Amino acid sequence: MDKKRVFSGTRATGRLHLGNYLGAVKGYLELSNNPEYETIYMVMDLHAITTPFDKEKLAQNTRDVVMDYLACGLDPEKSIITAQSLVPEHTYLAHILSAEISVARMQHLPTFKEKVAQHPDSVTMALLNYPVLMAADILLYKASLVPVGIDQEPHLEVAREIARKMNQKYGTDFPEPKRFTTKCEYMPSLTGEGKMSKSVEGSFVSLTDDLETIKRKLSVAPTDSGKGNRIPEKGGVANLLQFVELFEGKDQRKKFENDYLGVGIRYGDLKAELAEAICKELKPIQEERKHFEENPDEVDRIIREGAEKASKIAKETVKEVKEKMGFI
Ligand code: ADP
Repeated sequence: MDKKRVFSGTRATGRLHLGNYLGAVKGYLELSNNPEYETIYMVMDLHAITTPFDKEKLAQNTRDVVMDYLACGLDPEKSIITAQSLVPEHTYLAHILSAEISVARMQHLPTFKEKVAQHPDSVTMALLNYPVLMAADILLYKASLVPVGIDQEPHLEVAREIARKMNQKYGTDFPEPKRFTTKCEYMPSLTGEGKMSKSVEGSFVSLTDDLETIKRKLSVAPTDSGKGNRIPEKGGVANLLQFVELFEGKDQRKKFENDYLGVGIRYGDLKAELAEAICKELKPIQEERKHFEENPDEVDRIIREGAEKASKIAKETVKEVKEKMGFI
């Protein structure tokens, strides 16, 4: 292996939103353009079934994320792009790795507790095992760098722990994967609570939303009277100011902060202006996406060829692990 490997993915639970884009995909792009790295980016459809899902939509959701990746500029000539379920070694290695971590460790993860609160009737073994499958996704390719949002840090810690144990016990050579960060590692929800997430209704702006949709979504984002002695540090207004900084720049944020401390913010104006700025950022991505929407065969070919390339690496790792562990 001459180049260092990079692995990351997005669950097949819907189209990408601004948090996925700024928190993860911008990092995918940066690394894919760096010749020091071999990059592998997947759509995590096996992870998508860890929370309730619709079987009529799973395949389309998977294709949608691939199209979003391509529209954002990922290039199948530079990166392996495919769907996780097409490389069965992910689940195979996950089973092996699950022997290296305790049930209690999984139950105490903040990400697990969050999902239990969101879906109290669907606390399945697959959900509990999510971080082990993620460790397998990364270790299967011996990736040392993982571009993901800060929400994934506890899972990366699990992957490092498992890598260490495997290396100590069986003499494997898994790197301990590190997170690659982007400028926006945490995009808050439009609801004012928690993070922007595909699986939380009303929390996100999708990369494919048009101006009217963005305006409608922003219109329900919580605000206050528009005035005060101190700029709010969390909640709806703090989030809106963060969005202003991300899409309109620091100076514009400063202007609204001064308004807040002085004459007052008119949120209608702030939201209208912000919607325009977001829309402008998304236009080129939406233009590019049209090409792939009109050429579904090309998208399927990229997914198929990506799976072939990924399988070669995955098979080698599983063979090596089995040998080192004493399997027949
Ligand atoms: P979601 O929670 O929206 O379903 P995924 O779990 O599929 O997103 O995450 C895909 C990638 O996007 C991960 O790298 C994750 O860390 C990143 N990500 C998700 N939500 C955010 C957010 N609100 N801010 C920054 N990065 C995020």
